[in-house]
Amino acid sequence: MDHLPCRRKVRPEGALDTGSLGPNIAAMNSSEWQQSVRRACSPCAFHIQRDLANRGKRSASLKLVTLLGVWLIALASGVAAEPGQWKAGVAKVTITPTEPVWMAGYAARTGPSDGALVDLYARALVLTDARNARLTIVTMDLIEIPDTLRQRIVDALRTNHGIKPEELLLNVSHTHGGPMISAKTVADWGIPAVWGQRADNYVRELVEKVNAVVGTALSNATPATISYSHARCGFAMNRRISTPGGYTLGLNPDGPVDHDVPLLRVRSSEKKLIGLVFGYACHNTALGPTRKLHGDYAGFAQRKLEKDHPEAVTLFLMGCGGDQDPQPRRHQEDAEQNGLALASAVEAALAAAQVQLGATLSASLEMCPLAFAPLPPRHEIAERAKSGDGFVSRHARWVLKQWPNPDDQPADYQLPVQVVVLGQKLTLVALGGEPVVDYSIRLKRELASDGRPVWVAGYANLVSAYVPSRRVLLEGGYEGTQAVIYQSLPGPFRTDVEERIVASVHRQSKLLHGKSEAK
Ligand SMILES: [Zn+2]
Repeated sequence: MDHLPCRRKVRPEGALDTGSLGPNIAAMNSSEWQQSVRRACSPCAFHIQRDLANRGKRSASLKLVTLLGVWLIALASGVAAEPGQWKAGVAKVTITPTEPVWMAGYAARTGPSDGALVDLYARALVLTDARNARLTIVTMDLIEIPDTLRQRIVDALRTNHGIKPEELLLNVSHTHGGPMISAKTVADWGIPAVWGQRADNYVRELVEKVNAVVGTALSNATPATISYSHARCGFAMNRRISTPGGYTLGLNPDGPVDHDVPLLRVRSSEKKLIGLVFGYACHNTALGPTRKLHGDYAGFAQRKLEKDHPEAVTLFLMGCGGDQDPQPRRHQEDAEQNGLALASAVEAALAAAQVQLGATLSASLEMCPLAFAPLPPRHEIAERAKSGDGFVSRHARWVLKQWPNPDDQPADYQLPVQVVVLGQKLTLVALGGEPVVDYSIRLKRELASDGRPVWVAGYANLVSAYVPSRRVLLEGGYEGTQAVIYQSLPGPFRTDVEERIVASVHRQSKLLHGKSEAK
């Protein structure tokens, strides 16, 4: 099979029942974060006030009013205009499975992993501003962040390091060369259960490693300077093509792309390069369904950059590449070539003029409720349950089981939408799921003002569903409607999904920048 970009089930069925489709009921049972959500939010109570005055000299408090049923989780840290200095710490740890696992991303594989082509890593950067506001970025060479994994990492980092959810940005590269990390996925693919146990074991070790690598980054903190720049890289190509039979996957050189390569440069006070955060909006699918573990083009790019800058840890932030594929692709040489191209773009960004970012940081996080389109009549779903396609029939049976009555409709999907402002200049947006490129194009256009740079990442904090734009939803095709059966969603989102997400971003950005400018 040439292209099976995301044929994966994403979470245990129980978690899906209540965690992803309902108001986070399962999460509430296990996560302090979700407990705070329950306390702070209700469908008709949309105010959270966190007095930031006790962080410093300010006496102002902050009141967030959410609209359209968006549930606000928290506002993180204050913004200060006083001069000061960053502290930054970085660390990395290999998360390559130590025993064979079943790999995620391609249904064409017929056996477990057979060693590693390139090691997989979790990488951490902890930034602390002049007022001790903190942002922790953790990137992982994995395909997804199921709700259960997110909760476990959030809980561990909060318990052991005092990191609040709004201070944490998790991101995965979406490599299709990593392990399955859900026993549910293993079962859905008809793979022997022993590999599901391996997945569970792997996740247990993964959470411990992420906890440890963040602890190391914290202990490595040193006075630092931070700057932003960007360059361009051209191998991402839109993969949605219009055919007489509807939209399908292919090569669309005329489709929208985002070739931006944003870069955050972190240097010690001695001007030693200690950290690089860079982004790109493209699926990590340059390599085909090999059984060697690897991080795809992003893995090769990071390997090259860390070889050339041995004292730096490089973190790849996946962008809004839901409908983007690398070209050329399929062979190892393609992945290496794309990785080198991206690394070269990072070097170009390093050589370009830098926007210095003062030591101020603010961040916020909302859970944005995305509504599903009404379920079709039950008799139609029952027909699908007879399909010879195992994915189609399993999905239909699952829908009938979850929503058996004609009037049953799924609850909203809760998508994390995070906004971070650095140095009162750079706006970093981190969207959950697999957003299509329309989001980064639109948000960069709408948020840009006074030359302030905007960086839009996807694949952040919870990655278990495509996030189509209104255009893509109306067009249909894989990312709009078809992939839902591989991602354990009841059906496509409603067409107002884009407006809900964009409104959440604008609301948070305005709040954070307004706070910044008021200082
Ligand atoms: Zn994908």
